[in-house]
Amino acid sequence: MSQSPRPSRRIFELLKAYHESRENIRALVDMSRMREYEKVGFIDAWQEEMADFFADNGYCFACNRRLERCSCEEPLRPLAATRH
Ligand SMILES: [Zn+2]
Repeated sequence: MSQSPRPSRRIFELLKAYHESRENIRALVDMSRMREYEKVGFIDAWQEEMADFFADNGYCFACNRRLERCSCEEPLRPLAATRH
């Protein structure tokens, strides 16, 4: 396991990216002529991408803990699944 000297800062940066991305997605969905179910599918796909983004950086998207400390009963991205 590699050490992460500033874990709190890194999750802060991930959450910032997440909030910015969410703003963009909301604006995009609001401007679009998508039907309601299409919007839901679009946002679901985006959430999947964010979960991957968090996992790629070593964090659980659901609880915002390091993957190795994640205690979610059903982790969105189990640690093993991120090892390609
Ligand atoms: Zn978790």
